[in-house]
Formats: sequence, structure tokens, C-alpha cells
Amino acid sequence: MRDVVIIGSGCAGLTAAIYAARANLKPLVIDGIEIGGQLSLTSLVENFPGFPEGVQGPELIQRMRDQAERFGAEYQAGHVTAADLSKSPFTLTLDGQTLETRTLIIASGASARWLGLPSEKALIGKGVSSCATCDGFFFRGKKVLVVGGGDTAMEDGIFLTRFATNVEIVHRRDQFRASKIMLDRARANEKITFTMDSVVDDILDPSKGEVVSAKVRNVKTNEVTEREVSAVFVAIGHTPNTGPFQGQLDMDADGYLKTEQGARTKVPGVYACGDVQDRVFRQAITASGSGCMAAIEAERFLESSDE
Ligand code: NDP
Repeated sequence: MRDVVIIGSGCAGLTAAIYAARANLKPLVIDGIEIGGQLSLTSLVENFPGFPEGVQGPELIQRMRDQAERFGAEYQAGHVTAADLSKSPFTLTLDGQTLETRTLIIASGASARWLGLPSEKALIGKGVSSCATCDGFFFRGKKVLVVGGGDTAMEDGIFLTRFATNVEIVHRRDQFRASKIMLDRARANEKITFTMDSVVDDILDPSKGEVVSAKVRNVKTNEVTEREVSAVFVAIGHTPNTGPFQGQLDMDADGYLKTEQGARTKVPGVYACGDVQDRVFRQAITASGSGCMAAIEAERFLESSDE
């Protein structure tokens, strides 16, 4: 039986691991499907304190991993499919194996959302992507389309201009959700064009196994126009990874875990941190901060149960 199991290896989980390991609790980190979380899919991170020149997301994650390991954290590949939080120790099922733990830190993050089009599904990995930094390189000299109006859409759009000849950002409203600084940067980039009040209705051509065009519909006029593009990057936000905890922990309408006093869930000994419980800030530094809180809470819980 473990003292501390941490689900998720993004910056929330890894910061929790650093703190729990330094408290000599030998935490076990379950890597999850997206190892390293969203930072491992980003390029330059310019707003993490302590890096005035910026740091590459994957490098920052690797450094956190090494830091936790140095103090005794262990890692296990795998994905938690079920959890029983009704009694202590808590039980987790991952890939057919069962684990028991006295405290649990949920840092399972949130996964990329898709538009839900059949053609989108058929073309994922064949020109449809949710990760510009992973796949942008393949579209050198091509035209591409980005869907979304948040910071991710702006960041992806700007990043993609390194490769693409033209990046069209398609957004469903006439107002952006993106921060002013990101929007200004995107607007200043002459390779980027914006199409507002519009949605992607279809992506062609699944029968060819590649993206050749996208059908864009203006939601105000219903006019549909076709764009010749080689890729569609979907940047429309994320869904929290809370499936195994449904019915056991309090969640909001979108499935984000509810926490009190920092990282506490309604089950004593179970804590949540990072994007799985934060739909407001969602920054690397806030995720790390909440990971720290979760680990300190777990440490105090174990201390008080041992008294
Ligand atoms: P957001 O939730 O902020 O934005 C999602 C965007 O996608 C919105 O514009 C939304 O439209 C649109 N959208 C949602 N669903 C659909 C749909 N089904 N069809 C079409 N459009 C849709 O997510 P982000 O991933 O952009 O950002 C998440 C967080 O990460 C934010 O806090 C952001 O600030 C942060 N971030 C910061 C960065 C930085 O500072 N460098 C970089 C990237 C992210 P609508 O506006 O109409 O709801």
C-alpha cells in the first residue's frame, strides 16, 4: 500500500510529487495517457517565474520530473480506469492492475476537445490535429486553418506561421476569448487572417485520407464557403479527465472537480490540483501552486491519521 498516489504527470502532479517526495512519502506518479500534460505539447513558456528568457514546455516538465525523482518519487506508466473512494485505503484500477493508497492526489488534467464531426474523426492524424506544436512542422508551405477564439487558437496560429503560408483562424463569435496580448500578436502577423461568426461544418476528404479543404459556414448568414487547406487545427478548449470519480466526488456541470480550501475534495485524504479542478486560471504556475497545496494537505492528513 502506498502513502501517496498522484494521478497525472503534468506540472500539477509533478509539483505535488516534488513536495510529497521531499516529505519522504515516496509518492507514486501515474503518468496517464498524455505524459507531461499540456506543457509537454507547448513550445516556449514565457511566463513561468524564474525563466526570464523563457523555457521550452517539455524541458520544464522534464526538469520537474527529475527534481521529484531525485527526492524519491516513482513513476508508473498507465491510465486509471476506475477508483473506489468509498473506504480507506482508496483503490485504483489501472490497466487491469489494482493499487491501494492512503491518500490520493488527482492531477489528471483536461484533454483537448474536438468539434465532433465524423470527417474530423476520420482525419485525426491525417491533417486534423489538436496540437500545433506537434504537427505544424508537417505543413510547411501549405495553407492551414485553426478553429477557436481563445489563447490556444492565437498561440497555435502564431506558431503555425513558422511553417504555413497562410493561417486562417475561424471563430464562432464576433468577440474573442483570447487575452489582449495574444490577440494583438496574432493580429500583427500578416500571415494570419480571421473569419468571425463562423464554424467548420465539414472537413474533406476522408476518402483520400488527407485534408484537402474545409467547409466554413457563417452562422449569421448560413453561407457556406470552401477553403483549400492542408490541415485543420482544433483549438477549442479542454474537457476535464474525471471519469473514474463520477458519483464519488463533487463536480461542476462540465465535470471539473470542486475543491475547498485549496485542494480538498469532499473525501478526506483525496485532493485535486491543476486543470482538473481549475477552469479559471489554467496556467502552469497556478497548476504547480495547487499541486504544492495538495501535497501539503496529503502530508498533514497522513500525520494526523498516524497520531
Ligand atoms: P478557451 O476555453 O479559453 O477557448 C476556447 C475557444 O474555443 C473559445 O473561443 C470558444 O468559443 C471556442 N469553442 C469552444 N467550443 C467550440 C466549438 N464546439 N466549436 C467552435 N468553437 C468552440 O480555451 P483555450 O484552450 O484557448 O485556453 C485555455 C486556457 O489556457 C485559458 O485560460 C488561456 O488563457 C490559457 N492559455 C494561455 C496561453 C498563453 O498565455 N500563452 C496559451 C494557451 C492557453 P467561445 O469564445 O464562443 O466560447
